[in-house]
Amino acid sequence: MRVLTRLLSRLPGAPIRSIADVVERQLCTGCGMCAVVQPDDLRMVDDYHLGRRPVPRAGREGADTTSALAVCPGVSLEWPVPDPEASTALWNDWGPVLEVWEGHAVDPTIRRRGSSGGVGTALASFAVAGGGQEAVVHIRARDDIPYLNEATVSEDPEAVAAAAGSRYSPASACEGLSAARGRRVAFVGKPCEVAAVARARTAAPPTVEGVEVTIAIFCAGTPSVRGTVEMMNRLGFADPAGVDLVRYRGEGWPGRAVVEGRGADGERRQASLSYQESWGEVLQAHRQWRCHLCVDHTGEFADLAVGDPWYREVRDGEPGRSLVVVRTPRGREFVRRAREAGVVELVRVDDSVFPRSQPNLLDTRGSVWGRMATLRALGLPAPRYRGPDLFSTWRRLGTRSKISSVLGTVRRIGRRRLLRRARVVPFEPRPPVRYPPGRRERVAEVGSS
Ligand SMILES: Cc1cc2nc3c(=O)[nH]c(=O)nc-3n(C[C@H](O)[C@H](O)[C@H](O)COP(=O)(O)OP(=O)(O)OC[C@H]3O[C@@H](n4cnc5c(N)ncnc54)[C@H](O)[C@@H]3O)c2cc1C
Ligand code: SF4
Ligand code: SF4
Repeated sequence: MRVLTRLLSRLPGAPIRSIADVVERQLCTGCGMCAVVQPDDLRMVDDYHLGRRPVPRAGREGADTTSALAVCPGVSLEWPVPDPEASTALWNDWGPVLEVWEGHAVDPTIRRRGSSGGVGTALASFAVAGGGQEAVVHIRARDDIPYLNEATVSEDPEAVAAAAGSRYSPASACEGLSAARGRRVAFVGKPCEVAAVARARTAAPPTVEGVEVTIAIFCAGTPSVRGTVEMMNRLGFADPAGVDLVRYRGEGWPGRAVVEGRGADGERRQASLSYQESWGEVLQAHRQWRCHLCVDHTGEFADLAVGDPWYREVRDGEPGRSLVVVRTPRGREFVRRAREAGVVELVRVDDSVFPRSQPNLLDTRGSVWGRMATLRALGLPAPRYRGPDLFSTWRRLGTRSKISSVLGTVRRIGRRRLLRRARVVPFEPRPPVRYPPGRRERVAEVGSS
């Protein structure tokens, strides 16, 4: 009987009953919350192709993961009743919107380093510089392997500022919550990570009781480690071990993807790609499967969300600007105090600036109903969403997009091997080549368009 149950559970249409099911059926977003809730059973690793994933700790294979599953944003999300002050016009497609602001960090270094206008970093820094929190849980590049990321807990504004800028490679912001236990924190993460925090508030309150404010960054999808390695290869860095700096954006708006280190010829150099070349031509093709089923790309469970105000053409050399979406009264109060403290310069804009800034994200959300219907019709798993009427968003798509949401999914089922269970293989990067202190040679710059 047990053998039969195990065999049935491995069929493509079998229900999701464990964290292993979430991972193997490619519904994992890589948020890291399951490993915070069941740290003795699970740990996060990087898989080169899949992304950051939970795996059982040694000797804990087959452990019951029901508690972890209860916080997992990969399998299901339930939207709370919207705040009475939220825009009714925007709720179904964009989640709760109380206010929309546009502006930038006042500190010019943060503004320059930030992906957009540095407001995400400025607000997070304010949390530990008068805002009332003791620490910030967020993501930064690893010191030892600069093309991988780690969750970190920063206690001073300088440490928060050092991590400004988007990391377009796997990152599990929730992992940082373990080290922040017992402290009052601000949490910065992608929408699925903030959604995991929201789920934990009811399913595992002790893990998130110190989280006082959540800031989400807009997110169109997380590319795998392979995406970044291909970007480095394209820039002439055949061996990732020779690389000691990877920046995806910033130092301009949207800024260039910059890689620095020793190239195939052994010479130290720096090379870069435009945002269109790095994201558009390399990285986005490597987004994890779950991102294609994601409907919350703009932090609907957060107090505040930050992204690009791309509702107009950006002039060459224009300094960065961020869009800020206030989603809760707590978020509104936090922005008010940050403005008063003089860390951000923001102007209130019409709510319509938000949808006009990210029309691609609405199309993506619209496609999800078609994708999920196709998966279910073929007996494959899809996340459960309770809240917005996704069918109505899908219905508004053009005929071509509707057809492509179905046919594209059928094609991806084969390409992504969704009929099989995925196996996580922990990625073991080679340590980078280190240069003796003080002997960093001059870097030759190689640019692309
Ligand atoms: C994978 C990915 C996809 C994105 N897609 C979009 C998009 O579709 N539309 C859009 O407008 N913007 C997108 N962005 C950009 C992102 O939303 C910008 O950070 C945002 O525009 C805010 O800019 P800022 O200058 O105010 O923030 P910054 O000052 O640059 O602060 C960014 C904050 O985000 C944290 N962070 C960086 N990378 C990650 C990560 N991978 N996971 C969790 N936290 C991280 C940092 O620790 C920092 O605290 C994406 C970013 C990423 C990482
Ligand atoms: S989505 Fe998050 S909680 Fe769910 S399995 Fe993946 S890492 Fe764990
Ligand atoms: S697209 Fe959605 S699921 Fe994917 S990383 Fe971004 S927020 Fe998470």
